[in-house]
Amino acid sequence: MGSIAFIGAQTGDEGKGVRVGYYTKKAVDTIQESYGDSEDPRVLVLRWQGGANAGHTVFLEGKKYALHQLPSGILIPGTFNLMGEGVYFNPRKALEEIEALKKQGIKIDTCNFGIASNAHVTLDYHIDLDEAISRGMTGHLSTGKGIRPTAMDKQGRVGIRFEEFLDRAEFIQILKNRFPDGMPKGVSYDSFVDSYSAERNVLSELSVLHSDIMNNLSFKLVVGEGAQGFQLDVDRGLYPGVTSSNPSIVPFRADVLAGVVKMYESSVGGGRPFVGRMDEPLETKLREFWGEFGTTTGKPRGLGWFDVVEINNAIDSSEIDVLVGTCGDRLEELAKIGEKVKLIVAYDIDGKRFDRWDKSFHKRSKLYSAKPVFEEFEPWSKFFDEEKGKLTSNAQRFVDRIQDLTDTEFVAHGHGPEIKDVLDLDKGLIPNLIM
Ligand code: GDP
Ligand code: MG
Repeated sequence: MGSIAFIGAQTGDEGKGVRVGYYTKKAVDTIQESYGDSEDPRVLVLRWQGGANAGHTVFLEGKKYALHQLPSGILIPGTFNLMGEGVYFNPRKALEEIEALKKQGIKIDTCNFGIASNAHVTLDYHIDLDEAISRGMTGHLSTGKGIRPTAMDKQGRVGIRFEEFLDRAEFIQILKNRFPDGMPKGVSYDSFVDSYSAERNVLSELSVLHSDIMNNLSFKLVVGEGAQGFQLDVDRGLYPGVTSSNPSIVPFRADVLAGVVKMYESSVGGGRPFVGRMDEPLETKLREFWGEFGTTTGKPRGLGWFDVVEINNAIDSSEIDVLVGTCGDRLEELAKIGEKVKLIVAYDIDGKRFDRWDKSFHKRSKLYSAKPVFEEFEPWSKFFDEEKGKLTSNAQRFVDRIQDLTDTEFVAHGHGPEIKDVLDLDKGLIPNLIM
């Protein structure tokens, strides 16, 4: 069984969902060609961290799907999709998402979806606590989805695992220990637990043992789907403007680790420096044009230039093997308004040049005074030349420079929001992993 994992190498929303969808579909098709039809799913798609705070927008055959918790593979027949043991699982939101996807014609049942029995659950009181913790804090550090309190409960060992959530009596007992003086808002233990009856009814059959699924030999490929991005990693990212999990650490042995990178940068949320942020009014103009608003949060995303210092840090720390580019087509807009494309190749901090990440950047004040050192490139009015099946020359120069500076190769370039909108440089990636 081969394995590949995709992580966002920037600050999230790089377009991981669409690209995971593309490679998953390619794997399903490749397996079918080699091994013939099968009733059983042969590609496993795993989400291993994050929770209802990370969203993907995936366009498939002209239809738009907003995924908040479920892996992108759920849209693709021939896959099994696992909410793995590291996720913070919100049962209410998951039920809503499952129902919405079913209405769009997506099949979801025990044959293609499982939830790790030891995943921690995010409950209503976590969302209330999130609000309470964030109130009065500067640099809004939360999506308000209850993730931080879930993580605090888990690490503080007062959390609730999915299998416990499913057992009414045990759920009540744990809540009594967690809140010995009564539940928040004066709700009774029983009524709180019973407010989750519908979720328990629908979701209980989906509980699985994580390692059973991971070791199921009928899968020919495991695809790991990261949520958020490197800079939001609680250990390696721009602390404290991070998420409460490790998007940059893959918890299984991956034969290939692919870093998904947007040809510019977008970032939602605060509490962290943003060295290459675009100037106004360019940022606002491009945001409106590109619709750069969070899939889950709806918040406007900040926009910046592609940052090689940051990407090299992600490559070095996570041991990224290859890059998957996205959204190069969006930069076509710059040609229309006569703006050059910029690339950040170093930081200047108080007159000192940094080409690589530095230990001093882990002092939270440091990067706020960093000025980007740019190289400029001629813009491209077209990113992908469909007739020739390759990137246009200006786009290729930009991409080549990134490859030089990172010493890492691109295996594909997204050039539109659809799963099929990709220039696959066909480095043998998927067939090699499956054979
Ligand atoms: P994720 O969280 O990394 O999966 O990314 P999101 O789905 O939150 O945000 C990425 C946005 O860019 C989505 O609206 C995608 O439809 C869109 N997108 C992804 N790749 C491309 C691409 O190559 N070109 C264009 N134009 N849009 C893309
Ligand atoms: Mg997203």
